[in-house]
Amino acid sequence: MSDYTYIFDFDYTLFKTYEEIKVWSPRGDRNCKQGAYFPLLPNEYQSFKLAEDEYLNKESFSEFLKVDWGRASPIQPVLEIFNLVKKKIILTARDQSIEPFIRKKILGAYDFVGLGDGSPNLKLNFIQKFKRPFVFEDSIKVVELCNANKIPNGLVTLKNQSVNILYTLYE
Ligand SMILES: [Mg+2]
Repeated sequence: MSDYTYIFDFDYTLFKTYEEIKVWSPRGDRNCKQGAYFPLLPNEYQSFKLAEDEYLNKESFSEFLKVDWGRASPIQPVLEIFNLVKKKIILTARDQSIEPFIRKKILGAYDFVGLGDGSPNLKLNFIQKFKRPFVFEDSIKVVELCNANKIPNGLVTLKNQSVNILYTLYE
């Protein structure tokens, strides 16, 4: 196992976070100066489909430029694996500028890459640069892409107080 490069997602994989995505929508139940929107948590966003009259833009992800450490809570089993393994990277759809916020809380030696883009394919492209990647993710889309490419992974799911890691291995 030791020569794997372990690649960890951040939101809902290492920490449960509360930053919300703003979906601009005529049916939005909240308002700001840009208009009506409804908020989505990152885990809700994964299975969300935009209606024709809804849209997302850069402002939709503005909360993700910070981590509200007052609210974020660790996903302990995954963090323990993170702390145990040697070669490790945090790979997030958040912007690279989030790095100092994350390093304030997650200590130790690791690389940090912020893609600034939520595309699962972009994540896969990055993961495939490594010879022996092992991915921890809560995004089913990213995990499906890993499986399609025989990349070993642990799918992290949270439900109430329970944490599940479903491993898929290829050797
Ligand atoms: Mg995630």
